[in-house]
Amino acid sequence: MAEWSARARREGRSVGFVPTMGALHEGHLDLIARARKDHAKVVCSIFVNPLQFNNLEDLERYPRQLEQDSKLLDEAGCDALFAPQVETLFADLQPHTYDLGRLDGHWEGPSRPGHFQGVVNVVERLFHFVRPDEAFFGEKDRQQLTLLRHIARQEHWPERIVGCPTVRAVDGLALSSRNARLSPAERQKATVLFKALTVAGAMAFRHTVQEVEEAVRETVANEPGVQLDYFGIADHDTLEPLMDWGDRDLTVALIAAQVGPVRLIDNLTLWR
Ligand code: AMP
Repeated sequence: MAEWSARARREGRSVGFVPTMGALHEGHLDLIARARKDHAKVVCSIFVNPLQFNNLEDLERYPRQLEQDSKLLDEAGCDALFAPQVETLFADLQPHTYDLGRLDGHWEGPSRPGHFQGVVNVVERLFHFVRPDEAFFGEKDRQQLTLLRHIARQEHWPERIVGCPTVRAVDGLALSSRNARLSPAERQKATVLFKALTVAGAMAFRHTVQEVEEAVRETVANEPGVQLDYFGIADHDTLEPLMDWGDRDLTVALIAAQVGPVRLIDNLTLWR
């Protein structure tokens, strides 16, 4: 794969890269479209990364549909698919403990110990094999995006990290491969995450952070069968939890909740 990218670059073609875990949906295809806009060659990887799962059942149940994904990528104009076996990708892995600073001390960090170390280790391996110029990640996984930007700077990775907006269903639910595991009733209940973020968006900067948190908690509590894991307001750049708005013009609301068998996350940028 590295040789493929090197040849493209020798021919004056830049390489855009979209790492995924497969079960592709419009969110992934949007990243491919963005990569195609900016690069002559686009690579997508499909790799269900065991290092980033801290729940064995979630790993085993993660949807896998390589053949269908490969067709979707063809139709989307993706030039190459990198779908390595675990042994290939990790053959020369020297598991590294990255300094994540305070970035995994909140939100997904405490709920998923080791998750972000797993993410960074696998992205480093994927970059090692693919050698792209730029890699595209969704804002849907906001903390992952923030953390990868931080590590790329800290470790002097040559690859640029590009963030892309969250793609949603018409009812607001953020598209996710895990949504496929929701029953129709659970799928309906799951829209409460976006509803809650919309409530936060409407109240932001005009009410206190605590009032927003209270209103969101109430919104989620009114949807039986949905258990709120966390909701909070964070600094836009560092994702540090905020107790007040300060003089910020830009913050992020983050939410995670269990809906039936699936834990869902979402977030929304809030403007003053
Ligand atoms: P995943 O396959 O879930 O690991 O996601 C692969 C990439 O697609 C990550 O950068 C995600 O943030 C991104 N992604 C997943 N869902 C969405 C979405 N609904 N909108 C935009 N990007 C997404």
